[in-house]
Amino acid sequence: MSETQMYNTDEFEKQTVTKIPKAPFGFIQWKGTGVCMDVHCDCGCHFHIDSDFAYYVKCPRCKKVYECNPYIELKPMAEEPDHCVVTGEDEEA
Ligand SMILES: [Zn+2]
Repeated sequence: MSETQMYNTDEFEKQTVTKIPKAPFGFIQWKGTGVCMDVHCDCGCHFHIDSDFAYYVKCPRCKKVYECNPYIELKPMAEEPDHCVVTGEDEEA
């Protein structure tokens, strides 16, 4: 797999992942409580999830079950998108 891979999504034109982690990992697209996820199992299987409340995923080939880690990478942006930007409250203010 190359170091840079392009992913096509429904709502966003293209997103670039600059560092591809070693499998297992998922690439997700938030849709409210639902999620689209391209999953790369460490057995080599790539599969797609389109579901609600995907706390765990199961590989259709080797049957391994993974917990979906809530930790996600946040990439700084040069420009702010005009949609889907969510602001939280400063917990130390
Ligand atoms: Zn597998």
